Amino acid sequence: MTDDTGPASEMTADLETIVSLAKRRGFVFPSAEIYGGFAASYDYGPLGVEMRRNIRESWWRWMVQGRDDVVGIEAAIISNPRIWVASGHVENFTDPLVECTNCQARLRADHVEENTCPSCGAVGKFTDPRKFNMMLSTIVGPVADESGRAFLRPETAQGMFVNFDNVQTAMRKRLPFGIAQIGKSFRNEITVKQFIFRTREFEQMEMEYFCHPEQSMELHTYWKKERLRWHYSLGIRPQHLRLRDHRPEELSHYSRGTSDVEVHYPWGWGELEGIAHRGDYDLTQHSEHSGKKLTYFDPDTNQHLVPHVIEPAVGVDRVLLTLLFDAYAEEVVEGEKRVVLRLAPAIAPVTVAVLPLSKKIEPKAREVYDALRPHFRAQYDDSQSIGRRYRRQDEIGTPLCVTVDFETENDGAVTIRERDSMQQIRVPLAGLVAAIRERLDALTPRVPSHDEISI
Ligand code: ATP
Repeated sequence: MTDDTGPASEMTADLETIVSLAKRRGFVFPSAEIYGGFAASYDYGPLGVEMRRNIRESWWRWMVQGRDDVVGIEAAIISNPRIWVASGHVENFTDPLVECTNCQARLRADHVEENTCPSCGAVGKFTDPRKFNMMLSTIVGPVADESGRAFLRPETAQGMFVNFDNVQTAMRKRLPFGIAQIGKSFRNEITVKQFIFRTREFEQMEMEYFCHPEQSMELHTYWKKERLRWHYSLGIRPQHLRLRDHRPEELSHYSRGTSDVEVHYPWGWGELEGIAHRGDYDLTQHSEHSGKKLTYFDPDTNQHLVPHVIEPAVGVDRVLLTLLFDAYAEEVVEGEKRVVLRLAPAIAPVTVAVLPLSKKIEPKAREVYDALRPHFRAQYDDSQSIGRRYRRQDEIGTPLCVTVDFETENDGAVTIRERDSMQQIRVPLAGLVAAIRERLDALTPRVPSHDEISI
């Protein structure tokens, strides 16, 4: 699974299909669309917001609440600019920028294929690459001069390093332990395309796992597997995923080794998550620049040491895009096209839709809806024919629909319809919550153990 030509399987949908579904159904809108948009900025609509919450929630449970050795923080987006000098971002966080001398388009050198300008088609008309720093900056305070220059963080990671000592002391953590954070990051990306895959404002979920240097290689392997397990838990199909080790020339300035979890997007393999071995780079740098010792006292050996760090880092937006691609399917049912998003129940924006067969039975249907709302992300939908409502729920990935019909008053039962099999079963209202739980469990992806994953 680690070679460049790893197993691939085509995604069903192309980018255009996903962009159009995302807008039509209220997942993602172009930002400021009424003003003509704003390059690479997107606004999340009602369903996108629910999905993002579910993705964050799943990650937080997996990485923090489900473990004893990881705790969370939320650090400031704009903080002391010395952080970014110490971390190396002021000096090294650059992409190679080339300009087409024919049309003046500015492009990332490593994104130019066959020396051809994607804007005007000119061949070999590029300037030599120069370093372009990707940090976005602003001026903080009332005086608009360089003394107030500060950066919008380009990664959440540094918030964990500068708080290493605070967290360790407050929480009395012993190695190995991790600090996790979810939050927005900003990068002045040169090339922005492919929808929400690469934007200038995005959200990251990162964890810094501090450990004894001699344990670090083993823990790097552990986290690669553990992170793959999380992606499987979201239902991403294994044939769309692979792990790829960075080549030496690709490694970031801080990295001793990085593996990417890659996805087979319609435009080729692309990074979904990076799992880096950052060594002692960050703690050492911050110690030197701040003058504050960032070491760990090992009570077993009575010695101070600088822990090494393993960092899994993934973007909320990229996970959302990946899930839309991976879950999308088109089928022909009774001569008609059915579009279905096979999202895992934990991720789907709506888990159960309550559909009255006719508006006449609204009171009973509302009663059922009210009974389900405390337990599930439920939606009430009574517009248009029942067939169209099923199709609409299929298209937004709702795993189960509960249909309330004219018989419900008499037999005290409703029909559960499953998104994937389209099977319908009659269930008594008395046991409805348990019956829904059981079906959602059955639709929840099975996660392989570490032993079952070979990397
Ligand atoms: P790339 O090579 O694609 O520019 P990177 O290697 O610089 O990405 P990291 O610094 O490893 O990315 O960031 C960790 C994760 O954050 C990425 O795997 C991705 O999921 C997300 N991410 C990074 N940059 C962006 C961006 N511009 N837009 C959306 N998500 C991003």
